[in-house]
Formats: sequence, structure tokens, C-alpha cells
Amino acid sequence: MNTWLELHVDDEVLTRDPGAWPEAAALLDGVATAAESAGGRLSFRIRTKFAAADRFGFLLSLQRRGHEVGAHAHGRDLASAVAALRATGILPTVMAPGLVQVGAAGETKLLDLARSLGALGITDRLEARRWTYQGWLPRRHPNGLWMLDVSVSPFDWGVLRRAGGGAPRAAFGSLDWAALDRCASVQASQAVPAGWAPFFGATFHEHDLCAERQLTPADPTFDGLRRWVERWTPRPSAEAAAGRTLDGAGQVERTAAWAGGRNALPLALRSRISRVRARNEIPSNDLPPHRVVRAPRPRVSIVAVHAGDGGLVERLRFLGLADNAGAPDANLWLYARREAGWAAPGNPSHVADARQVLDAALGEGLPVVLLSWSGGGVSAARALIDLGRDAPALSARVCAWIDVEGPCDRHSLQKPGAEAEWAALSPHDDTVWRGRELVSLFPALARLPSPPAYHRWQGSPDHVHQGCVLHAERALAAARSAGLRTTLTQVAGPLREHGSVWRHALSDVLNVAAVATSSAGSLPVVEPGGARRPAPAR
Ligand SMILES: [Zn+2]
Repeated sequence: MNTWLELHVDDEVLTRDPGAWPEAAALLDGVATAAESAGGRLSFRIRTKFAAADRFGFLLSLQRRGHEVGAHAHGRDLASAVAALRATGILPTVMAPGLVQVGAAGETKLLDLARSLGALGITDRLEARRWTYQGWLPRRHPNGLWMLDVSVSPFDWGVLRRAGGGAPRAAFGSLDWAALDRCASVQASQAVPAGWAPFFGATFHEHDLCAERQLTPADPTFDGLRRWVERWTPRPSAEAAAGRTLDGAGQVERTAAWAGGRNALPLALRSRISRVRARNEIPSNDLPPHRVVRAPRPRVSIVAVHAGDGGLVERLRFLGLADNAGAPDANLWLYARREAGWAAPGNPSHVADARQVLDAALGEGLPVVLLSWSGGGVSAARALIDLGRDAPALSARVCAWIDVEGPCDRHSLQKPGAEAEWAALSPHDDTVWRGRELVSLFPALARLPSPPAYHRWQGSPDHVHQGCVLHAERALAAARSAGLRTTLTQVAGPLREHGSVWRHALSDVLNVAAVATSSAGSLPVVEPGGARRPAPAR
């Protein structure tokens, strides 16, 4: 059975005492740590106040630890919750917008709002939808959103006690883990219709763990939570572990594919699937924090490889472009590197991140254009070279690489000053620069079965080297002498002031990519784990 456990952060205490933020964060951190110690991850839904006060990257760090961070509201203020989360660097795609609070009359309007704010999935339900096992979640709402109801009415099933005085709310600190355990057992015992995946979801709140007006948990060890997660986090069967069969996660994936396409799987499901896959030791599906901006009728995918850890934050703003790049037929893959910091080019973990996202994008069957920004070019090139080694046929579907102002060699990588990154590396020692310099990576790219075109995009001033664009010329010369097809698009002024130039240049590259691969006939579809299966018959 697939499970998820969702914590709605309701800001009960913060509303009265804004100074209590550190305490609230400590509580959430404790909850997250307890879940992690039991081998699971949680789904957090965050309201405006907590997110707006997060100046410390706390929520981003929760996301990096593998938890899902979505937006929460009580029927209004969803837009401000989303805005506050975005300001922390998180782009929420899963939301609990407060369907209970708006009631049936407000449902349509609220879901439309959620969709316009970037929601792909909703983990929320109307009060009327009691635990009836209907639908074997998820189901597709007519407006395109995936709905994953948290399918238990907590009062009816003894998970929470109602507060006295007839108030329609839970008593503080009343969460009963044993009752939740019984609910999950009942759900697990239900017969599952063929082709569907069994699901159980439950919600709790930070105040369900604490006494009124407090952020100190009644059980600071979170033993009940830990035991629950330990018991209900799916473990792979021996067969699944041996790679012979798919477990429940595979079933979910098939169900969703049947219901409307796996591309539309909400993050909650994706992360569940990722976790189960990770347990099956197919780590390449455990993607770095990422977001896919989807086109209505995609012909191509763009994988953006940033330097720094700004992929989800910077997006395409360095080119002066909005999220969809003005490309109506391209999916855009954005991600944040797992290991933060600026030691970018050549860092193996950054290369691995780029490779995983590239594999995932290719796994959807579309041709891919790599778009790298600054030092991200080294990770992009090396990820593609690694792919060519592991799956040569697949690497042929990466049609082009757009390198935007990337440093090309040690002279453009090593900043001046004794404090600078790599100040200690000798410019005379070739071995310490191996794998970091584009100029020495081009020959390996040219040996791929179908080498990508190399497009260099350059502003003057360069974002690092100001008026000197010698590194762009060196990169182009090295690419040409290795035998790659090359183009140069250069503008006078900073990149971001020339959005329309990049939009046109991008559309040219994407058109060529789409045409080249549609004439290449049937292409292999590759599972994110690396196993290949033939393309479906058309
Ligand atoms: Zn709430």
C-alpha cells in the first residue's frame, strides 16, 4: 500500500506570536527528523506566515532532505502562501488550498485559482468526502488537476478528538497514532480493483502534537510518528528488490498513465515513487529538487543546467525569459543541485545531478536540448559524455547543447585572488584540471554516435569577465576543431536585456531538434533507471 502523511502547518501560535518562528521551525525539524529516522519522508503544506518568516532557507532544506513542500491555505490567501513559498526558492506544485473551508460552492473557483498558481496536484477534500474508499486515488479533476484526497475523516475514526464546546475543530494535542494505525490497517485490508493502486493518506497539524498555545510537542521523541512511518512506508518485496517485478509504485504509475499520462503525475506521487524506487536501488530515479514547466503539445524538452544552486530560483531569467521560454512546444526541466555552493565545474555530485535530470527528461521520449548557464556547462557536457558511454543510442537524442557564457578553460575558471575558488590549483598542472575544462571535453562529445550541435550564446559584457569574451572564442574554436557543428549568437550588452534575441534563437534550435528527431523514426524509450524497452508501436 502506498502511503503519505501530510503535515499542515497552520500557524496557530505564529499568528499570535510572530517571534515564535524558531520554535515552530524546531518542531517541524523534529517531525521531519523522526520520519527520516524511520526511513520515510513527509509532505509539508505551509501557510503564509511560516513561509514569509523563513529567511534561513529552512523550507528549502526540508525539500532537499526529500520532503515535499507544498502550499496550504484555508479557502483564501492561497496566492499569498504561494508567493511566500516562492520567495524561499520553492515553487509549490502540490497544494491543500482549503476545500473544507470554502465548501462545495467555492470548490471550482478555488481549484481554478490553485491551477493558475502552478498547482499540478491537490491533496485536499471537501468535508462531504468522508472515508468511502472511492476512486482508489488519484483521480483527475475535469480542470486537469490531480486530486489525491486525504481519505480519512479524523473525528469519525478516532484519529483526533473534537475540541469541547461543539467547535468544528480538533482538540490540541489529540492526535492518536494508534487510531491512525488502525485506519491504515483497514484500508490495507480492502480489495484493490485490478489495475489500481492501493492508497492511504492522512493529515495532521503541528498543533495536533502540542498543547494549546505551545509549540513544544507532548512527545518530544515523536515515537508514535516514527513507529507509524516505520510500519507504513512501503518496503520492496524480495522480488521487487531483485528487479523482477514492479511493486505498488509501479502500479500507481501504470494507473496514472492509464488515467491520463504519467507526465501529469503530481509531485506527491512522484516523490512516493522515487522513494520506493530508491529502496529498490535504482537511484537514478531519485531526482534532485526539480520542476518541469510543461507545454500543451511538447515536441522537445529543454534541460537547464545552472551553476550555483539557482536552477529553481533563477530559472531562465538570466536570459530575460519567462518560465516557458516563449516556447509553446517545449517542456522545460529546471532543477536545483543537491550539493549547494559554487565549486561547480567538475564536481562529481553536480555531474550526477545533471545526468539524473537528463535521464528523466529522455525517459519521456522527447528529444532533448541541453541549455547550460555559466559553469553549469561543464556538468552538462560531462553528463552527456557519461550518457554516451552508458547508453550510446539514447545520447543521440540530445540534439543540441546551448552553452550560455560558460567558462571554457582554467584561465576563465580560476578567479584572481588568494581567496578565490581553486586559487590553490596550479595552472601549470594539467592533471588537476582534468574534467573541468570545456576545451578538453569537446573531443569526447564529438565521438558520440550523433554529436550535438554546439551553440554558444554570449553577451558583452560577460557576466564574469566583463568586456573580455576570449573564453567564448576559445570554446568555439575548440568545438570546431573537434568537429562539432557550431553557431555563435552574440549581443551587445548583458544577456538579460535581450530576451527577444534568445527567444528567437531558442526557437530555431528547438525547431531543428524536433525535425531532426521526428525523421529519425522509432526511438527507444528508456526507463529512468536505465533499462531500455522498445518504443511503443504507433
Ligand atoms: Zn489547515
